[in-house]
Formats: sequence, C-alpha cells, structure tokens
Amino acid sequence: MSKKVKLCPVEQEQKRLLTLANYQVLDTPEEPAFDDIVEVVSIICEAPIAVINFIDRDRQWFKAEKGLGVRETPLDISICAHAILQPGLFIVTDTTLDPRFANNPLVTGEPHLRFYAGALLESSDGYPLGTLCVLDYQPRELTERQRFALQALANQVMAHMELMLAQREQAELIRELKITRHELTKYASTDPLTGLLNRRAFEQRLNQELALIQRGTHFASLMLIDLDHFKFVNDTLGHQAGDKVLLRFTELCQTAFRQADVISRWGGEEFLVLLPMTTVKEAQYATERLHQLLVITPMLDDTPLPLHITASIGVCSLTNASTVNNSLQRVDELLYRAKKQGRNRTVFEMEEPPSQCQFG
Ligand code: GH3
Ligand code: MG
Ligand code: MG
Repeated sequence: MSKKVKLCPVEQEQKRLLTLANYQVLDTPEEPAFDDIVEVVSIICEAPIAVINFIDRDRQWFKAEKGLGVRETPLDISICAHAILQPGLFIVTDTTLDPRFANNPLVTGEPHLRFYAGALLESSDGYPLGTLCVLDYQPRELTERQRFALQALANQVMAHMELMLAQREQAELIRELKITRHELTKYASTDPLTGLLNRRAFEQRLNQELALIQRGTHFASLMLIDLDHFKFVNDTLGHQAGDKVLLRFTELCQTAFRQADVISRWGGEEFLVLLPMTTVKEAQYATERLHQLLVITPMLDDTPLPLHITASIGVCSLTNASTVNNSLQRVDELLYRAKKQGRNRTVFEMEEPPSQCQFG
C-alpha cells in the first residue's frame, strides 16, 4: 500500500472537508442525474469504468459508478486523491509506468487498473472535492473530443451539485421565513404581559364568530370582566405587583373557561371573553367558577397577608343582529351595572332570573 496522500495544509484541508460536507452529498443514495453522467462518460470515453467520486477525510466515496461495483474505497489506494491536487484533467496513460501508482494494489492486483483519466470537481469557491473519472484495464489515451467531453460532464456534475445546494438553501430560507412570519403574527396578536389575544386579534376573532352566527349555524356569549379597585393594588403594592396580579388572574381565567373560549386582554385590567356555542345561562357556570377561584386564590405569593381581589362582569348573548360595536356597547353597559350595584358580581343579559349573582 502506498503512503496516505496528503492533500494540502491542515487548515486548507479542514475547509475543503467543510465545503464538501456543505453539499450534503456524501452517503446519499444513487440518483439518476449522476448515474446518467457516468453512463454517458463511459460511452464517450469508451472506458469500462466511470465514477463520480468525492475525496472524504479517509475514504473516497462514489456518488455514481459504473463497472466498479463498490461505493467507497480507502483513501490510501486512491488515484483520484492525486487527481484533485491539480486543476483540469489528470491523465495517467499507464499506471505501471508511473512511480506514484506502480505499487498501488489496484494496479498490481485486482482489478489491474492501467489507465486513469479524471476531471476535477471543484466547488464554486475553488476547493477540489473529487473527480469525474474513467478507468481502463489497458494503457491508453483519450482523444481531444473525449477530453473535452470528460471536462464538460465534470462541469455538469458541479452545476447539478450547485443547483441542489441552492435549492436546499432556498428551502431553509423559506422555512426560516415561515417561522419568522408565524412569530410576527403571534407578536402582533398577543398581549405582551399575559400572552392573551390583544384587542386587535380579539376583534378579528369576534368578527369571524359573528359571521357564523349570522349564517344561523352558531350562537355565543360575550363576557366583559373588570378587576375591582385594581388601582388600589398598584397604589399600595406597586406596578410590578399589579402586573403579577394580572398574570395570576389570567391563569385563573384559563382554569375557569373552556379551551374553546377565547380570552383576551381588552385593556388595562379589563378582559373580554368570547364563549362560542354557549348561552348566557351556560356562561353563568363559568362566571361562578371564576368568582369562586378569586375567593380562594391569593393573588400574590409574597405578601404578609393573602391578597384577594374581586371582579365585576357583564355577559350578553351574540345574536344575528349583533355587530362588534353594539355587542361591546351592550356588554359594557352590563358591566357598568355590575359596578354600580356594588362590584364583585356578574350581570347577565337575561329576561328571566337569575339576572345577576353576587360573590364573596
Ligand atoms: P374599578 O373597580 O372601578 O374598576 O376601579 P379600578 O381601580 O379597577 O379602575 P381604574 O380604571 O380606576 O384603574 C385601573 C388601573 O389599572 C389603573 C391602571 O394604572 C392599572 N393598569 C392598567 N394597565 C395595567 C398594567 O398593565 N399593569 C398594572 N400593574 N396596572 C395596570
Ligand atoms: Mg377598568
Ligand atoms: Mg377595574
């Protein structure tokens, strides 16, 4: 066996291997586009063996091969590893007469290779990656036309590799763009403090629901919640504590309402909830759960005495006569009545009792 071929200084070789890895061609399955090229080059050059090979760290690997029957061989017996040391074509007319290959086991033993002609496969930034080569069992030459064809087909191999690389990079870019768009949409539609839908996104969702209601296939309730005396929390415990209370209240809402219910932060300490396929009467269960949770849940962890808050709520139904504006106006009036009647209660838009319930 000949000594392992040293391709170039260590750093250059590292960069070359990185460039090769970036094409993501090593150990990929055979592909017709490359198989066709070795077939054509073998016909044109009238050679029994043709391969597209890439020189990896310690092996040469064949993307396509004809007449060889293997997909990789060790680097220390590779003739191509010599070929990538020089630009253009590398031709050995008789391997037994070349001191670099005369003792090569592929020359001295099976399959007794006597002729080699390889065209360099070079990356767009000039790194030698491998060769498109033809081999024969007889010493011989290539005609001018065969040399031209070998080089032209090697260029086609690299053109195809560049195209595949560009397609992969484009796919990656599109994937990143989709993620960014998704994040931007989320950012534009959520309240930064609570992560709930913001006013804009909720209005959109409400419009969609109203469209379904107008088609007669849906019904829903709308609920406006306002925390009572919230200013007092800020004034006595600070704005940061107020933020924590808003976050805990958000968690309580997520517990009290169903997954299908849409909770939004309408503003400051006001929350608007859409309850699809829920009558006002059914919405009462949710408000009761919420009032109860507020009774039993301290809103802050680090206060000497447990801090409890209450909420006032208005609930109306959405009908096919509802618009965003008139529903908001109605639910706001109901909330106002709850405040006026002493807070810590829900006022429902209902003819029949119970039209309101009080807690705490
Ligand atoms: P009422 O019972 O009548 O609703 O009284 P209230 O104190 O809850 O209502 P008011 O409208 O007087 O005060 C609301 C307070 O909510 C004032 C405002 O500083 C506070 N607030 C609004 N947004 C935020 C926020 O994001 N974080 C904090 N900590 N406070 C907020
Ligand atoms: Mg308010
Ligand atoms: Mg309030």
